[in-house]
Amino acid sequence: GDFPIETDTLVVGSGPGGYVAAIRAAQLGQKVTIVEKNTIGGVCLNVGCIPSKALISVGHRFVGAQEADAMGITASDVKLDFSKAMAFKESVVKKLTGGVEGLLKGNKVDIVKGEAYFVDANTARVMDDNSAQTYKFKNVILATGARPVEIPNFKFSKRVVNSTGALELQELPKKLVVIGGGYIGTELGSAYANLGSEVTIIEGADDILTGFEKQMTQLVKKGLKKKGVEVVVKATAKGVEETDTGVKVTYEAKGEEKTVEADYVLVTVGRRPNTDEMGLEELGLKFEERGLLSVDKQCRTSIPNIYAIGDIVPGLQLAHKASYEGKIAAEAVAGEKSEVDYMAIPAVCFTDPELATVGLNEKQAKDEGYEVSVGKFPFAANGRALALNATDGFVKLVARKEDGLLIGAQIAGENASDMIAEMALAIEGGMTLEDVSMTIHAHPTLGEITMEAAEVALGTPIHIL
Ligand code: FAD
Repeated sequence: GDFPIETDTLVVGSGPGGYVAAIRAAQLGQKVTIVEKNTIGGVCLNVGCIPSKALISVGHRFVGAQEADAMGITASDVKLDFSKAMAFKESVVKKLTGGVEGLLKGNKVDIVKGEAYFVDANTARVMDDNSAQTYKFKNVILATGARPVEIPNFKFSKRVVNSTGALELQELPKKLVVIGGGYIGTELGSAYANLGSEVTIIEGADDILTGFEKQMTQLVKKGLKKKGVEVVVKATAKGVEETDTGVKVTYEAKGEEKTVEADYVLVTVGRRPNTDEMGLEELGLKFEERGLLSVDKQCRTSIPNIYAIGDIVPGLQLAHKASYEGKIAAEAVAGEKSEVDYMAIPAVCFTDPELATVGLNEKQAKDEGYEVSVGKFPFAANGRALALNATDGFVKLVARKEDGLLIGAQIAGENASDMIAEMALAIEGGMTLEDVSMTIHAHPTLGEITMEAAEVALGTPIHIL
């Protein structure tokens, strides 16, 4: 037996949920221990958001160098050194994970390597390869994230990869099949297409990126087509045959069975919460469907001193949502009254063009019974977008008709990922269309598109008839 180590707050998992919760809890005077079985930074920093965005940037530079003809640039002999690109991606990851570790230490959070298993609601065993240590805690914040779902007949292997494998390939695939047209599949498919792979996306539903409005996904599909990406919808992946040099993927579409050969197949059809194998069922915690934990507005589970955040609780599986909940849970642990409010959580898809949404879209608003004013303004009528040679896209604002209160925004286009922040702030701040239209936006910037969309909704646009 060992001597238990006592701590105020135990945090399990060091992704964007866990590390943020740990830092905030420490700032609020708690003695905090964070347990991580893998690498600091979780999925997001190591095998998710960050490495994927690094590869996406490489793809953009590569394509940008080849397609600058319209601006008078002809580059010959533009080459990609894939292993260098991967080394760049890795260096970005290392900088960030190192940075997070430094932040945890600087906030006096104890970092423990190992896998946590719960003995009771105040006790966890943390095991690594050759030792086990008991921790006693007053409160625990679970932030154990999610893992890729495996589907029948597609067992992960060297050539049948999940998103983690797709971010760690040793060679650029000549041909890549992606099963699943969600944001992860579409982002990685786009990235590899930009890097030079021939990509096929196979999706079961009748469209890709079903979380976004059709008028937005249409632009992405146009972009994919331009890259030569084949998108097959309403298709069921049947199986894969693996050889030394590649894969043969069979799928069914329109009642016909088809085969496509490739070097790798990436399967991204969803992520399952890591709430099993930790002793949580034995504690009697209440679960929702699909392994998600039930929580209240303070991220508290059915056992009052056990909190859960991020990908293991209902809602969007996104890093910033995990971090937001991390702050709320840490504040709740410290006795504060903080509660979650999901009105203004943005969601971004880093495709070409980028898609971003926050709050409600027009249909959702109507379904919720709002009478709405909608304003839409195209990138093509904005000077900066023209100067950037990035004219595909639009900003759409959704407001409550009676008083112009902003309740949602959708942006498709270059830098939508950054532009959506202004709309999140506006919604969070309870602003109206008039507030946005009377906010002075620097000229020439893409931000003016948002201002003009507000003017459109108000019926007084300047730069469109
Ligand atoms: P995670 O980041 O998954 O971290 C959980 C941690 O807990 C892991 O490190 C794990 O090792 C550890 N752990 C699990 N069980 C135990 C245990 N028993 N003991 C100890 N440690 C344990 N989101 C975005 O917002 N933007 C993006 O652009 C984006 N891109 C993505 C791209 C890809 C390819 C993928 C896969 C995901 C992407 N996501 C993105 C989603 C994002 O990564 C997740 O929503 C986010 O990481 C969830 O954070 P979390 O803290 O809940 O869990």
